[in-house]
Amino acid sequence: MDRLYYDLHIHSCLSPCGDDDMTPANIVNMAVLKELDVIAITDHNSSKNCPAAIEFAKGSDLIVIPGMELCTIEEVHVLCLFSNIDNAMRFDEYVYTKLIKVSNNEDIFGKQVIYDKKDCICGIEPYLLINATEISFQSIGRLMLEYGGIAIPAHIDKATNSLISNLGFIPNEADFIWVEVTNKEEFNQLCVVNPYLNNCSILYNSDAHSLGLINEREHYLPSKGRTAEDIINSLKTHLL
Ligand SMILES: [Zn+2]
Ligand SMILES: [Zn+2]
Repeated sequence: MDRLYYDLHIHSCLSPCGDDDMTPANIVNMAVLKELDVIAITDHNSSKNCPAAIEFAKGSDLIVIPGMELCTIEEVHVLCLFSNIDNAMRFDEYVYTKLIKVSNNEDIFGKQVIYDKKDCICGIEPYLLINATEISFQSIGRLMLEYGGIAIPAHIDKATNSLISNLGFIPNEADFIWVEVTNKEEFNQLCVVNPYLNNCSILYNSDAHSLGLINEREHYLPSKGRTAEDIINSLKTHLL
């Protein structure tokens, strides 16, 4: 069993709130400097900077998991992580059809920049990615089966855009087994009211929007193997 030091929630410059220097190449270089084993690029409602990040990690020991921070119709943030880029980009295409389309105002929200595998800007996303989609929280389990991913409610103890803050309860048919936690004491309080959470495993990610805030080599995951597919399979089987 490998112990992989991780940060599975990082925003690139494609998220309007992400710093301009959060390019795929810079994120990979910073993660390598910090001696992380695995990162996930999780922009709001988009995976379009994942291909470049995966490319830049080639030749290093860093594993890049393609992902997205999906915003559901209830405005609940959910990390969606995939075992390969093809699945992630198919899901990206689907989510784009469900994004509530409002033009991005760069002066207010910030730029949404897409990089290619040569570290050049290859596109600007015109629609505001931090908007909600038409995807309900309850449909995510089925979608992850269809697209070969795993869904993890993001920052579950936060007062905004979390499952508990926005939905107010955990649906009976919920099937997630991991949660992202920012504050363990707040989370412990939630567990009292929502006993479902006692059976979930915890991820501590940075939710970084700037390079310096990417996790240090502090939190690790057990994994049977060192590929994105191995890690997603290990997450799905709930290894502790
Ligand atoms: Zn979020
Ligand atoms: Zn985030």
